[in-house]
Amino acid sequence: MDFENLNADVNMILTQHYTQGRGGHAIDKVVIHHNAGSLTVEGCYRVWESREASAHYQVQSDGRIGQLVWDSDTAWHCGNFGQNQRSIGIEHADDSSDPWHISDACLDAGAHLVAAVCRYYGLGRPEWGRNLFGHSDFAPTECPASLAVGGSQHDEYVARAQQWYDSMAGGASAPSAPASQPAAQPSAPGGSVDELAQRVISGEFGTGDERRAALGSRYDEVQDRVNEILSGGSQASGAPDIDDLARRTLSGEFGNGAQRRAALGDLYDAVQARVNELCGQGGSSGGADIDDLARRAISGEFGNGDQRRAALGSLYDAVQARVNEMLS
Ligand SMILES: [Zn+2]
Repeated sequence: MDFENLNADVNMILTQHYTQGRGGHAIDKVVIHHNAGSLTVEGCYRVWESREASAHYQVQSDGRIGQLVWDSDTAWHCGNFGQNQRSIGIEHADDSSDPWHISDACLDAGAHLVAAVCRYYGLGRPEWGRNLFGHSDFAPTECPASLAVGGSQHDEYVARAQQWYDSMAGGASAPSAPASQPAAQPSAPGGSVDELAQRVISGEFGTGDERRAALGSRYDEVQDRVNEILSGGSQASGAPDIDDLARRTLSGEFGNGAQRRAALGDLYDAVQARVNELCGQGGSSGGADIDDLARRAISGEFGNGDQRRAALGSLYDAVQARVNEMLS
């Protein structure tokens, strides 16, 4: 597995049981699963070709990793299509069933893959509940079993993912004995100040205290940069025109998925957020499903107040009216 570039040991891309593209949504999280069995990549391929399910990656008990759905497409893994559109799904083979347990090679490779995905897509340091979740966070299931909150391997998995992220982000060599290293815990997201500022502007960290908590020790430097960008300061020469970039994105100039992300660099999140808004305004591409958005608003997916307003853009009034109807 080439973790720097997310090239798997083997690619066995499914012919069906996934959705092309991501409906314009950016990847913002990783969702982990267990096989409830011990499958190889080839075994997963056979199962998912015959059942309406899929995931982007399978991690075998020996640590071998296969890609079955391209990251730029939507895999059917967590029982919630909106979340599927925004997530990378990673499956892990079990090496025992009573109780469920995964091998250390599987745990290490899976955690390394989580770190690599977080790094590649600019999601920040892996943190449970922020950019790393289990299947059971989105559907009634015991999956990911030993890796779920309270599971016997949960803490080790998350700590290992963070160690891999730190070693990758710092350009250092791999941790020689990840399990025995004390977990350094700077509870702040990784990435450049510019990158974090753009993510703030795109709404990822909410507002006020929520933003402060999410950015931790990096709050001041990032917020300063946000203020600069929003006031036009230091952007005078060649200031990025997000609207213009969003329209060029919609016209296909920057391609999709990883290609679009590479082309837009630090501006990706801000531009993609604007693209999503523009798509919502058009009401085209299948039309916005107000009922679905209302249910997701009630489930907390879009936060409250200004955060919800920003997330829903031009659809806010319609969705909020439906939310009020549903709750009355
Ligand atoms: Zn699952």
